[in-house]
Amino acid sequence: MTEPTPQPKKLFIKTYGCQMNVYDSDRMADALAAEGYVATASAEDADLVLLNTCHIREKASEKVFSELGRLNALRAERAAAGSREMLIGVAGCVAQAEGEEIVRRVPGVDLVVGPQSYHHLPELVEKAAGRPRNLTARETAERAARDGRVATDFALAEKFARLPLPSREATRARGLTAFLTVQEGCDKFCSFCVVPYTRGAEVSRPVADVLREAQALVEAGVLELTLLGQNVNAYHGLDAAGRPVGLGELLRRLAEIPGLARLRYTTSHPRDMDDGLIEAHRDLDKLMPYLHLPVQSGSDRILKAMNRRHTRADYLRLIERIKLARPDIAMSGDFIVGFPGETDADFEQTFALVREVGYASAFTFKYSPRPGTPGADLPDQVPEEKKAERLERLLELTTEQMRAFGRACVGRTLDVLLEKKGRLAGQLGGRSPYLQAVHLDAPESLIGTIQPIEIVAAGNNSIQGKIVTDSERKAASLVESSAA
Ligand code: SAM
Ligand code: SF4
Repeated sequence: MTEPTPQPKKLFIKTYGCQMNVYDSDRMADALAAEGYVATASAEDADLVLLNTCHIREKASEKVFSELGRLNALRAERAAAGSREMLIGVAGCVAQAEGEEIVRRVPGVDLVVGPQSYHHLPELVEKAAGRPRNLTARETAERAARDGRVATDFALAEKFARLPLPSREATRARGLTAFLTVQEGCDKFCSFCVVPYTRGAEVSRPVADVLREAQALVEAGVLELTLLGQNVNAYHGLDAAGRPVGLGELLRRLAEIPGLARLRYTTSHPRDMDDGLIEAHRDLDKLMPYLHLPVQSGSDRILKAMNRRHTRADYLRLIERIKLARPDIAMSGDFIVGFPGETDADFEQTFALVREVGYASAFTFKYSPRPGTPGADLPDQVPEEKKAERLERLLELTTEQMRAFGRACVGRTLDVLLEKKGRLAGQLGGRSPYLQAVHLDAPESLIGTIQPIEIVAAGNNSIQGKIVTDSERKAASLVESSAA
């Protein structure tokens, strides 16, 4: 008689928050793939469920606890039905910020792992699988740290050295674009932000590490790389000679990788946009003309209270310099309304700044007081209704600007990376250089190529295009040369 083949263990990761968490979720999946875990699309089907959490705003972290309640119920149902066991883990910034408190609050949680400790995941899972059940909540919490099921140390260099690179197959399955974390943590301490506490001090990965990972991604078919960091333009990784290298130089080295077509990076702080990076925008065709550069507020008084270390004028001057280097660059930004002490006049300055810059895309947030940050203890917290009112006005303006940017693209021919099938038959979906979603009718054989696409219409959240035929291209270049 032949032995039945063991079923692979199934892993479901639910990701909350920013792109860095998306990247981390993939790396956790890679680490667990080595232990025989395969990805599955739902918690219902999983042997291990990981919530990769976000702590940036209160709403984001509260969502995690309601999801944990649902997972606990699911596990109880399974146990009652006598089906296989399910382990529940909490990763990410809530894990880092709350640590053992999570196990105290939700005793069903089997493991807690902070962002710098993902290389410990296989051991944590093993320990969690063997943990005694049916303990009281108090016993569970008391034993959690002792059992080694809570890992929240800061050991970034070790994490990257020990996490395996994704397999070619895993990279292919993730698509033609990939994230690559080059820097983590932040030393800026903006007074509203938890990142310096949850992700720790700023650490950059060595240049050779980044190049190796980028090369592997490109060899597996990735065409577009987005470099990630909480404060990515503070990157200062060491090169082979032990010399610190800035983000501009890193981008230049990455641009030399044959087969890599596009580069992006996010998220940047205005103070760290140095000359080298601006020159990279001037010189590198592969670096896309789109820059996410959060300002948070247009009022100097509020910027000071936020400890942003730049003024409104500094920010505007910086954009001028960037546009001189790369005139077709499109701007994106983050804005917080209702920071403590923000008056109507302060808000009007933010509104006016948005008008002046004209953003291709923007992310607007109501200020959320985060325990442990200086902002949370400031007097003059802005009432919720006031925040909501300001958010609505700003959102209306930024949405209109995004749509106007889309309309202004109509009639232009943009290079579009064709990534996947669209929702309708015969349709493909891709991204413009400005990160807009583009839909068009085109054959599937063009997936994985970059094509010149004429933009014919702009919708609310995407733009539509059509393939530029060879004869149209020839006709266009004739017009251009006769005009010259
Ligand atoms: N490093 C980036 C920078 O300096 O602009 C920002 C990274 S942060 C993860 C993403 C965005 O979340 C911020 O730009 C800010 O707009 C928003 N954010 C951070 N803390 C917040 C808070 N307490 N309340 C509301 N929004 C917040
Ligand atoms: Fe947070 Fe960005 Fe400020 Fe750092 S620079 S504290 S990540 S908002």
